Amino acid sequence: MPKGRVMNEQAVKEPPALQATVQMSQAVPLPAPLSMLIDPANGCNFRCTFCPTGNPEMLKEVGRPIGVMKLPMFTKIVEGMAAFPTPVKTVMLYKDGEPLLNNWLGDMIALMKQRRVALHVSTTTNAALLNETRARMLIESGLDSIRISVEHVHDEGYRRITKTFSDYQMIVDNVAFLHAEKARLGSPLQIHAKVVDAGLTELEKAKFMADFSPISDHTSIDSIMGWSNTGTDDMMLGLDPETGIDGVTPLKRNRVVCPSPFKTLAVNFNGEVSVCCVDWSHDTVVGDLREESLLDVWDGARLRAFRLAHLKGQRATLKACENCQYMQGYGADSDLDDVADAVAARIEAQDPTMTQGPTLTQDPNATQGLPSDRG
Ligand code: SF4
Repeated sequence: MPKGRVMNEQAVKEPPALQATVQMSQAVPLPAPLSMLIDPANGCNFRCTFCPTGNPEMLKEVGRPIGVMKLPMFTKIVEGMAAFPTPVKTVMLYKDGEPLLNNWLGDMIALMKQRRVALHVSTTTNAALLNETRARMLIESGLDSIRISVEHVHDEGYRRITKTFSDYQMIVDNVAFLHAEKARLGSPLQIHAKVVDAGLTELEKAKFMADFSPISDHTSIDSIMGWSNTGTDDMMLGLDPETGIDGVTPLKRNRVVCPSPFKTLAVNFNGEVSVCCVDWSHDTVVGDLREESLLDVWDGARLRAFRLAHLKGQRATLKACENCQYMQGYGADSDLDDVADAVAARIEAQDPTMTQGPTLTQDPNATQGLPSDRG
């Protein structure tokens, strides 16, 4: 069974605006992020072995707070997105935790759709909390797509991976209801069921496809994901995939420049802004929406310094980025290695005061001039 995305027969194509790829090397610096993650909740009902959120010791070590995003913060984000000169293409309402733990999730999606600040709004869930009420709430909110994180294909596998949950059939039933209900209501919501290949057998992969293909629009078997700043903890479970998370794109193991700082923003539940989705420890924080606007963060000195560090081959001075495997999985259209000098010159020309960049340090507590207060 090959890994990667499989489109089911009834799959509906993405909107044209989302199909168009942006040749990053020509376009950066961009006037707005291409994609954003916003974290409705950074706690989780599972304790998955391949996820930092499932490891309380790691969270305690870095002092990561736990909470849900409040509506006033979310509204500020939406207003900030409206101020960008170009629209954000995709918003993923998910980062560190389980979004369905936030009781305002439906209001958040509806507000974002109503204000038309993103071309596509999506979320991800493990589906254990996806009861009938929540399924209808997601459909009625106008959500464009949902990813279902399937953790295994039988009860024992769920127990081993999640440590808190062992009812595989409940996940299947919840997704089946969502699928049937969106058909009944004529909703264009797209359901993408995916399982992480954390050592699945060929039979288990086939079972996943057989169970979820009839109740999803897309199915995929993804590679296990590398994380930032994992220290000595092996979040890859001893596996060494050859592709990015999509299970298809070959890794570029010698990549120098991570594309994330040039095209994404990730807003944590409390309003702190990280560069990317794998920043579970909040070590790439480049702004704080409790004090700044989104535009200020995107064009701000801290993110510019972060970008210049990557462009100038100083990634190893950034604690979160030093051993990050995730950045190797980006596709060729995002690659900036060959144009790093030219892009650095463009950025420095935009802001001459940044020619030297701020002092970068290997002191993890100083976090490259970024705030140490994550509360
Ligand atoms: S190298 Fe990794 S941690 Fe650093 S910005 Fe890129 S994806 Fe994020």
